[in-house]
Parts: sequence; structure tokens; C-alpha cells
Amino acid sequence: MALQTVRDADVDGRKVLVRVDFNVPLDGQTITDDSRIRASLPTIEHILNRGGAVILMSHLGRPKGEIREELRLGPVAARLEQLIKYPVRSVQDITGPEARSAAGTLQSGQILLLENVRFDPREEANDPAMARELADLADCYVNDAFGAAHRAHASTTGVAEHLPSYIGLLMQEELESLGALCDKPKRPFVAILGGAKVSDKVGVIRSLLERVDALLPGGGIASTFSYAGGNEIGESLADRDFAEEGRLILSEAEARGVSVLLPDDVVVAADIDAPGRVVAAVNVEPADQIFDIGPRAVERYAAVIAGAGTVFWNGPMGVFERSEFAKGTVGIAKAVAQSSAFSVVGGGDSLAAVEQAGVAGQIDHLSTGGGASLEFLEGRDLPGVAAVRQSHQRQ
Ligand code: ADP
Ligand code: MG
Repeated sequence: MALQTVRDADVDGRKVLVRVDFNVPLDGQTITDDSRIRASLPTIEHILNRGGAVILMSHLGRPKGEIREELRLGPVAARLEQLIKYPVRSVQDITGPEARSAAGTLQSGQILLLENVRFDPREEANDPAMARELADLADCYVNDAFGAAHRAHASTTGVAEHLPSYIGLLMQEELESLGALCDKPKRPFVAILGGAKVSDKVGVIRSLLERVDALLPGGGIASTFSYAGGNEIGESLADRDFAEEGRLILSEAEARGVSVLLPDDVVVAADIDAPGRVVAAVNVEPADQIFDIGPRAVERYAAVIAGAGTVFWNGPMGVFERSEFAKGTVGIAKAVAQSSAFSVVGGGDSLAAVEQAGVAGQIDHLSTGGGASLEFLEGRDLPGVAAVRQSHQRQ
């Protein structure tokens, strides 16, 4: 059965609980990129325009089950209010009395934003009691949080067991665009993988290598492979436990003719505030940290990207937030933009990097999900999507 979307839901006069991904980058209390909020507007407006009331829930950052003042959703509520013509109410509560009372009095055409769901330790544990409490706030459920669809949490999967459930318009668009990437991609298919969530990402590399013709690693992924290959990586961010599996994966890839490039040179520094120096990847010192790929690596990677038929990119090549370490990421962003390949870039920081490089308009699909887009590409059924499908089957 095809997935039901919010267009199939009868929302008139009903309260719709919508899981969105408002996990925006913050500089203190200032939202530095509101793309994720903008991306969820079509679903919210769809419901409100048809006489529904919207109860929004999202996570922000990694509070790990504790209330963290700097990760409250207040700034998000304020930005949403500027972007949408409907009133936005927010509470500093998720399923407690304040949330229940606000949800109880919510009228058609109104929006209620609950507090950061990850303040409650039961969210990431997918606690059935929390799912039940969330479900009790509303009449039906819409999951529009593609960026969190690879997680089985109370707000992304548990709640769908209790309410008629649908996917949102952003989720639908993401699944269609990324689906095109899985269905006979134009070859060569090149994946560029970098960033910081190394342990999460190395898990998908094996199956990613079954789909692509070349892998270009950057960020913590490149340092992980460099370490696996026996190089000194000093204090760099890497998953050192992955070394043995990494070597195995490299030899398997080679046997199948998939090329995994490694940066020839890297930018190192004693710490993140120190000036960087370019060194050969084999000459990193024990006191160094690798913060970017070097200029020769950019050149080699760019040549591969220029010849690609399809490009998928998740994870910056370096600490692009500092100009000292942004050249690798900007160089790769320009190469992807100039290539005639069908290009998809996914991930919160990756999108920010593409914006920073000024090439966002030249990318075919900008995906709001990093980890989620990777797992989708692996061919996995995302838990957040599977939960909606199972809800239809019960109806
Ligand atoms: P995305 O949000 O696109 O999925 P990640 O969250 O995995 O990407 O990674 C983004 C972060 O990775 C950025 O904040 C960047 O500074 C950091 N990063 C990239 N390369 C390195 C590196 N070599 N060392 C430390 N941090 C890095
Ligand atoms: Mg990120």
C-alpha cells in the first residue's frame, strides 16, 4: 500500500500532532539558518488552511534527557511566528499539565509548539508511556521530520501506534527525490562523506559501497580511514575502533572495483583556534589535529566529481565554520555545483556549508536529513516511515 500523506487526512476541526525537524543551528539564541523551519511550512499551512489545529513537536540539539536552558524552543517559536501568518503559542512543557491544558483549548487555525522533546529521557528510549501521552494530545499524527526519520523515538515512531498516521509534504518530497537516487542512478555514482558523527556514519559505509562507484571521504571519516591505513592522525576526530573493519571494507571495495580515495594532504593545527598548516597525510604529528582536507585532495576529488553522473554528499570536509578550515568544503561544494551530475546534498551542516559557499541554487536536491538520507540510500526502511505505514495497515 502506498504511504498516506497529510493530503489524505481529514483534518477539519481536528487536532493534528506534527513531528517536525526544527533542529536548527544556533549561535547562542540566534538561529543562523532557518531552512528547516521554512521546509516544514507547507505541511503546517496545509493543515491550518483546511480547518485543523497544529500541535508541533521537535528536538533541538542533544540535551540527552535533561532540560537545557540553551536548547529551549523559544527562539524557534519566535522565528516560526515571523514566517507564518497564523498565531503560534509555545509551552515549556511536553506532555505535562501545561501542554495538556494548552492542547485542550487549541482552536482550528492555531499552532501550539511543545518544548524540546529530547528534554524527556523517555523520547529517545521510545517509551510507550510517553508515546501514549503525546497521542492523547491530538486526533491524528503527521510525521514531517525527515531528518529524524532514521530514529525510532517516542515522537517519531511510538506515537504512530496510537493515532491515524500520515507523512507530511516535506517527508514525501524527500522520499521521492532520494528514491530517484536509488532507482538506476546515472553512473558513475560518487558519494562524498565527511562530517563529525563518525560512529553513526561508518555504520553505513559498507552498504553505501555496494551502490556507488567511488567514495570520497572527508572530515572525521577521512581521518578514520587514514588511521585504519596505519597513518598517524594525532588528536584528530576519528573512530579508532573502526580500524579493523575499515581495512576490510577498503580491501573489499578494491576487489569490486569501487575506488575509495583518501586525502593526499590535510590541514592540521594544534587546536581549533590555532592557524592551520598543510601537510601530507602521512606526515601528521602526534600533537596535531586534522581539521580539513588539503588543496591537492580537493583537486583530486574535484576531478572525480567532474566526471560523475550522480553525486551524493553528506558531511563537510572540515571545520568549515572557521575560515581557516573551510577551503576543503568550499572547494568540494564548487566542484559539485559545477559538475553536470545529478546532485543531492543532505545534512544540516552540509546544507549550511553549501549556502556558505554560495552554490545552493546549483544543487539538484537539498535534503534536510543527513543520517536519514544516508540510511535511506542504504536501502533501509526508515523507522519513522515504517511506523506510518504500519498505522495504515491497522486501520
Ligand atoms: P551533517 O549535519 O551535514 O550531517 P555532521 O553533523 O556529521 O554533518 O558534521 C558537521 C560538523 O563536522 C561540522 O560542525 C564540522 O565542523 C565538523 N567537522 C568536519 N570535519 C571535521 C574534522 N576534521 N574535525 C572535527 N570536526 C569536523
Ligand atoms: Mg550536523
